[in-house]
Amino acid sequence: MQNEQENALRARIAEMLAQGLVTQTEPFPETDREFGSLLTELRHQDPDDLQAKLVLSGFTDKPYGPDQMRCQECMYYLVHRKWCDLPELAVPVEPNWWCRLWRI
Ligand code: SF4
Repeated sequence: MQNEQENALRARIAEMLAQGLVTQTEPFPETDREFGSLLTELRHQDPDDLQAKLVLSGFTDKPYGPDQMRCQECMYYLVHRKWCDLPELAVPVEPNWWCRLWRI
């Protein structure tokens, strides 16, 4: 059941991104302080507002930047569940996606 719900949510996010949702990919948080500020902003959002979460975290449905960063190599990515384990996000993702909370 959990898998079905997560697959459905992943498909919904994919559709929102494919339809051209503009997200805030920059600035990338280079320091711990900037990263922490972004997490604080995420924590203050309505947890049920999926679109706001995607926008603020800068989601893309493709690898990003010259280094082609993607969820697959991020420390928060759970391979077998295809899941972002960062508590402030906690959403199903695809390995080829990216967001600016990316960490290695
Ligand atoms: S933090 Fe961002 S890049 Fe990392 S797994 Fe989650 S959604 Fe993907």
